[in-house]
Formats: sequence, C-alpha cells, structure tokens
Amino acid sequence: MDPESLLAGLNEAQRRAVTTDGGPLVVLAGAGSGKTRVLTRRIAYRIAIDQTDPRRVLALTFTRKAAGELRDRLRSLGLRDDVVAGTFHGVALTQLRQRWSERGIDPPQLLDRKVGFIARLMGRQAGVDPLDVVSEMEWARARLVDGATYAEAARAAGRTPPLEPKAMAALMEAYAQEKRRRRLVDFDDLLALAIRDIRSDPDYAAAVRWRHRHLYVDEFQDVNPLQYELLSAWRGNTPDLFIVGDPNQAIYGWNGADPALLARFAKREPGAEVVELLDNYRSTPQILTLARAALGTGKGLEPHRGDGAVPEIRSYANDVAEADGIAEAIRHANSVTRPWRDQAVLVRTNAQLVVVEQALTAAGIPARIKGGAGPLGTPEVKTELRVLTQPGRDLQYLIGELDSAIEGEAGEQLTQAEIERRSNLAALSRLVHEYLSVDPAPTGPGLGAWIGTLRSGEVAADRDAVELATFHGAKGLEWPVVHVAGLEQGLVPIGYAKTGAQLDEETRLLYVAITRAESELYLSWAAERTFGNKTVRRQPSPHLGNLQSVIDHLRAGHRPMDWKAQVSQGRAALSKSKKRPVIEADTDDPVFVALRAWRRTRAKAADVPAYVIFNDQTLRAVAAAKPANRSQLGRLPGIGPVKLERYADELLEVVASAS
Ligand code: ATP
Ligand code: MG
Repeated sequence: MDPESLLAGLNEAQRRAVTTDGGPLVVLAGAGSGKTRVLTRRIAYRIAIDQTDPRRVLALTFTRKAAGELRDRLRSLGLRDDVVAGTFHGVALTQLRQRWSERGIDPPQLLDRKVGFIARLMGRQAGVDPLDVVSEMEWARARLVDGATYAEAARAAGRTPPLEPKAMAALMEAYAQEKRRRRLVDFDDLLALAIRDIRSDPDYAAAVRWRHRHLYVDEFQDVNPLQYELLSAWRGNTPDLFIVGDPNQAIYGWNGADPALLARFAKREPGAEVVELLDNYRSTPQILTLARAALGTGKGLEPHRGDGAVPEIRSYANDVAEADGIAEAIRHANSVTRPWRDQAVLVRTNAQLVVVEQALTAAGIPARIKGGAGPLGTPEVKTELRVLTQPGRDLQYLIGELDSAIEGEAGEQLTQAEIERRSNLAALSRLVHEYLSVDPAPTGPGLGAWIGTLRSGEVAADRDAVELATFHGAKGLEWPVVHVAGLEQGLVPIGYAKTGAQLDEETRLLYVAITRAESELYLSWAAERTFGNKTVRRQPSPHLGNLQSVIDHLRAGHRPMDWKAQVSQGRAALSKSKKRPVIEADTDDPVFVALRAWRRTRAKAADVPAYVIFNDQTLRAVAAAKPANRSQLGRLPGIGPVKLERYADELLEVVASAS
C-alpha cells in the first residue's frame, strides 16, 4: 500500500504517532480519539515503508473479540493474515504448542473450566460459591500472587476473600499440586509457562524475540502484571514497542489488571516517547458532554463532529417494558441508510442481555449477542439439559458428575470435536452453577425455566442485526445509535461495588458505555426488575440525576458545556463539600434549610457530592414555590422526570413538615 495514503485522515498528533521512528512509543488518549486507528495505521505504514517485515509483527489485545476487530481493521488496510494479532493467552498457547511438538513433549491437558475442579478440592462448604473462589484465584494469579503471599496481598488490595485468607492460600497450593499431579494446565499457566520457557533458555528466547520483533498493544490500561511479565519476556531489550491506552477506560481491576502499569510505563521507561491525542472523532458534542459529566473529567474529549440530538433518559415500569421500549426505539431509528447493525444495546450484566434479546426477537428485529451465545443450541447440551431439568433430580450431584465428565481422565488425547463438545458442556455447567447460586431451592424444572429465559433465536454472524453487549464487551467498539439500559442502583454501579476504587471502576464503565455512541444515545432504567423468580423495586442509578441535569441544560438550548468550566465547577463543589463542615445556608428560610439538610443525608447515603442530587438554585426554587403535589413539583426548573420519580415523595414531605 502507498505510505502516503496511510497517513490520510490523520491529525498532526496521530500522524506523529504513526510515523515516528524508534520507540518505545506510548499513546495516552481518551475514548474515540483514534488510538486503535493509529495503532493499525502504524503497523501498515511501517510495513509499507519497508521498516517492518509483516511476519515479525505481534499485535496484542485482551479478548478474542477485540483481537478479531484488530484483524478486521488490519485487513481493511490491505494487510493479509501474516501479521499476528491475538490475545496474550492465544499467542502463548500457540508458542507452547510449537515448542512441545518440536521437543516431542506430550502436551499437558488444558483445564478450561476450573469451577468443578475447585469445587471438588474444596469439598462442600456452606455459603461459599466455588465461582467466587475461582475468581479470587484468578485475581491472585494475574497479580503474580501465590499461596505464600496471598494473605498479605489480599489485605493490601482491600479484597474480600470468599474464604479465610489462610484457607484461600492453602487451597491455592492444593490446586497447584493437583494440577501438577494430573498434568493439567489452566489458562494462566499458559502465560506462566511461556514466560518460564523464554527466561530459562536464552537460545529459545532469542528465536522468539526475533520472530516478534515489533510489538503492539491496544487497550494497555487493562494489562495485568502476569501479562506484563510475558510482554517483558517477549520483548527482551528490543525497543520496538508501541502501546496505546486510556486510564479512564480501565475496567478490569476486579480481574487483576493494573492501570498503574500504563502510567508507570509512560513515566519511567527510558527513552519512551509519549503522544497525547486530545480530539474525539467518534461522538457528537452532546454525547461527549454527557460522557464528561459521567466521568467528572474531560481531557482528550474535544469534539470534532457536528451537533447531534440531545441524549435522552427514559424510565419504564419494569424490565420487560424497558426492553419493549428499546425495541420500539430501535425500529424508529432504523432506516434504509441505517441498518440494524448500526445500533447496539449495552447493559451492565450478561443476564440483562436475555430480556432485551427476547423483546427484539418478539418484535421481529434481528439481534445478536456480541461474541455469540452459541453453546446452548448444540446437541450435547440439549441432551444433558433434558436430564438435568427433570423433576426430582439432585442437581448438586448431577453437576458434579457432569464436571468430572468434562474434565475426563488425565493424559487423555482428545480430538478437536471432543474438545469442542466438552467446552460446550462446560458453558452449560457454568450456567448451572450460576443457577445454583441464585436459586435458594434449586430444582430441575427451575433450572429449565431459568435457562429457557436465556435462549433465543440465533442470528448468523454475517446477517444484519442489532448488536447486544455488556459494557465490558463493548470496549473499543462504536455504533451510530446506542441504547444503554438498566441504569439502576445495583447495576450502575453494580451492587457489590463498595470501596472507592470499585465505585470508580464502575463510573469508568459507564463512561465506556456512553462513549460507544456516535450520533444518538438513549439511556433507560426500569422501576421493577425480575431476577429468577423474584421481582424487585428499583431506584434509578445515582448517576442519572447528574446526567439529567446536563440533558436539561442542553435541552434548554445551552451549548454543550465547556468541559473545563464544567470540571472546575464539579471540583469546586467537591472540595467545598469535603473541606467545610457544611455551614447552614446564609438564609433564614426554614424550608430551604430543611431541604439542604435532607440533601446532605441523601448525598451521604448515595456517596455522591451534594450537587449531584440537586443544586442550590433548584432547592431555592422548591423552597420558594412550596409545591404541594408532584405535578407542581415537576414544573420547577431542575426537576426532571428522573428526579421527580426518585425524590418527589421525600421532597414533598420535607416541604410540608418545614413550612
Ligand atoms: P476507544 O478508546 O474507544 O478504543 P480509540 O481511541 O481507539 O477509541 P478509534 O476507534 O481508533 O478510537 O477511533 C474512533 C473513531 O474515530 C473511528 O471511527 C475512527 O475511524 C475515527 N477517527 C479517528 N481519527 C480520525 C481522524 N483524524 N479523522 C476522522 N476520523 C477519525
Ligand atoms: Mg480503541
């Protein structure tokens, strides 16, 4: 390809990142600023000017889906598949396989679903979910923590271990031993083994480093220390490393990722050049204004696109109504020039995808869960399900049986088909474990009903369809129209997020979701939601009040806010609320004083700054008008439908009792 044409459509900073010689190079930039564009263009450009042999390029990212996207983008730049683009795990596995076969080593068996394995090692322990134990172990592994260092590391990181730290540590040792004894390796072992091979054999290390001379990493904010070790091993002393990342999109801390690695790299790596990209090419100024408000900062989000529609917040009576409403909105936005695939529905948890998928299917709108939900339709899973869902079955026992069948015997040689069959069953097993953890009185038919809700018509990968994804799964992607659903307390932020760090990660997740949208953005929540067989009342997400204020501001005809002003305003409000013990209003209006006191309690309970609930101006308006009912209250400035829904009863009560 002509090198010049690869520089077309790049701004100056992007162009520099693509053409700069040497390295290492770090691109630090916000969502939609062209990081992935720069990364793929740089690969293509360096090949085009004969600085790079395509077979010696390794482009890394974190999920198979993201790796697929990278490959697509490279292909569209005219590169064929000789550039390796993959995940850390995928590349490590290929390397190990090659080495095993060269040295005539019988490959160990891959333990791809650990839950059953760990459950048996643990024995039955009331109130402890093996899934939680597995997640905790994966966190430890990602952080290079073993049994000996676990207790200390878990304390330092503020973890809440599912077992006593001592018991966790013992179980980690037992797990490692049992794997050794049975010659099994899990996914994290792949990384550790690949590191060991390189570190222990200089000739092999030289060969690997020769092969992967040019290293590229997308989404570097989500790298974990174990992956970082492997990257360092691959790299040796080679300077040709190019990484891009956005600290504001770090969303895998729960899984052991360490965003500090990105910052540290940018600061400490000798000779590293840092490029910042400050312009956003993806979203309208209206959408970016909301994204900034959600995050509370706006660096790197200077809008470049023309104005678009003001985003909307919609509330629904329940989750089914919400899904139906989204289906209607999707149909409304669909047109000859806007195919289904231009729209996406994003949710916080996997389980929420199901109700949305069902509503779209019922409305005749083709929909596809991004990443695919294939295993449930396979014959082996259907057969197994028939057994599991009969009445009177002991599910705990059956799932134990299924898990051992999936694992099979040590040293078994499996065909490709058998590997696939077992991983489909493993997906089922995971669902069954999930069901067992949500239903206090599990039964076969209960399982059947629960899984039934997850099923739906599948849409072929190449067919035009609306895409459904979790916030995590949407990372790096973009759509002209985005519907973000389930913006409720308990989901956004997720209920188990408690510490400041966890809540911050949840905020970044919302920011990731919002910044996927190019032209239109719809946010929604439902006042009631069904989990399994329980229906629960819901409150809007604590973020919605703040977002609604921004929307009202835009609707009132104001220009999208200057982010600097907005941020400093927010900061000032925050620091005021922190520094000064709140002094009561410089006013003797008792209603206003009461309203402020109420707001303080509210803000404390929701762990947000007071201005997020209502600003002083709104409270003054309420105090002056002394509304007696909802409709009077709803007419006041600053009281949008979300805030009305959420706070009307309390506000009216405060006004009535203080007047
Ligand atoms: P994320 O952080 O979400 O992964 P990103 O920084 O990787 O975002 P890209 O996906 O590379 O951003 O780019 C966002 C969108 O902006 C893409 O559609 C891309 O083609 C477009 N884009 C990037 N740079 C420019 C530019 N200079 N001119 C026009 N469009 C651009
Ligand atoms: Mg990207």
